[in-house]
Amino acid sequence: MTDHDVIFAGGGLASTLAACRLKALRPELRLLVIEGGAQLGGNHTWSCHASDLTPAQASWIAPFITYRWPGQVVRFPKYTRRLDAGYQSISSTTLHHVALAALGGGCIRLNARIAALEPSAVLLDGGERLTAPCIIDGRGPAPSAALALGFQKFIGLELRLAAPHGETVPVIMDAAISQDDGYRFVYTLPFTADTILIEDTYYADGPSLEPAAIRRKIEAYAAARGWRIAQILREETGTLPILLGGDIDAFWREVGTDVARIGLRACLFHPTTGYSLPDAVATADAIAALPELTTASVASLTQALSKRLWQQRGFYRMLNRFLFLAAEPGKRYEIMQRFYSLAEPLIERFYRAASSPADKARILIGRPPVPIARALAHIREASLRPSQFGDAGQSNG
Ligand SMILES: Cc1cc2nc3c(=O)[nH]c(=O)nc-3n(C[C@H](O)[C@H](O)[C@H](O)COP(=O)(O)OP(=O)(O)OC[C@H]3O[C@@H](n4cnc5c(N)ncnc54)[C@H](O)[C@@H]3O)c2cc1C
Repeated sequence: MTDHDVIFAGGGLASTLAACRLKALRPELRLLVIEGGAQLGGNHTWSCHASDLTPAQASWIAPFITYRWPGQVVRFPKYTRRLDAGYQSISSTTLHHVALAALGGGCIRLNARIAALEPSAVLLDGGERLTAPCIIDGRGPAPSAALALGFQKFIGLELRLAAPHGETVPVIMDAAISQDDGYRFVYTLPFTADTILIEDTYYADGPSLEPAAIRRKIEAYAAARGWRIAQILREETGTLPILLGGDIDAFWREVGTDVARIGLRACLFHPTTGYSLPDAVATADAIAALPELTTASVASLTQALSKRLWQQRGFYRMLNRFLFLAAEPGKRYEIMQRFYSLAEPLIERFYRAASSPADKARILIGRPPVPIARALAHIREASLRPSQFGDAGQSNG
């Protein structure tokens, strides 16, 4: 007799959503989520476009949504555009409290470091061994020699301002700012009339961040918008992998078949944005629908999903190679400036990683700001050099 039916190793986004979905659909299961930190989900704000989710997904995820907005804005040197697609965010605090209410405290172990996983056991630091026929590894990204990466890195400050900011919808990209360290833009989420998250973001070749300098840039951005900072409420930081290419079969050969991975650890994220929320929702549904829950059945499900999505998403990795390898770093913003001038449904399908053949042609045709010879040199995934393969990176604030 095992201690549990399913154990989730790591209580981040993917594990917590999958555990809650299982609890809702199969309440008889004995679940356990083991998290090394003091709360589920760490210190994040996870956002996505409303159109990234199906109506059924949007319905079950609704209790987790902390903020919703009816539109979004982008700013580039040549134009400002408002888009009608809704936007929504989950705060890690909401994720933690909603999951705690749904799962019950007995299903969650916090401040528990996992030392090792076996196909039917989790070993904790200190020697405790917990058993289940189904162990799911959602401990976030792990290094892989099979993936070539660029980086989306950022620091965000959640601020209380001395007066209302006047913003009603998120600014997904404000790239009408000085460009350095690759493609730079500021992202703002207006939470309440006088609180706002301001993130200074870089699509850069390397993962290093200089926190003090970036905090100063955020303060300068706020000042330039006429916003006086009354209090810094919270800081979050991230370095997300952006996929340039790789070999997904080699990635899974490195992992082996004894481990069932989910989330970023299973390469389940949008190659261009590094965002994993929609894939985490889809994975939760797929796991909950499995007739038999074992480490082997979940491993086979998520490996197959990861490989299928990799095949479907080659176009986005190619665009990333154009962005990172063919465009001059200081001119990367021109690619996004052109992309955001296209029709809104095309933009929504892009973020859903569901671009049609016509969308792909439309994105590539015209006068792209990438020299054609350099673009052609990077069109094939096999053009990547071994030095471009390396660690997946991500950090939590
Ligand atoms: C600051 C930040 C903001 C982001 N914003 C967005 C966004 O807006 N939209 C979006 O879709 N994506 C976003 N992402 C990208 C991605 O969706 C997140 O990284 C997401 O949290 C990945 O989910 P995951 O479950 O794979 O890993 P995580 O959520 O990182 O979960 C991994 C968990 O495992 C725990 N853990 C690791 N090792 C151990 C161990 N040995 N023992 C015990 N516990 C362990 C960690 O503490 C962590 O809680 C963001 C990422 C960051 C870092």
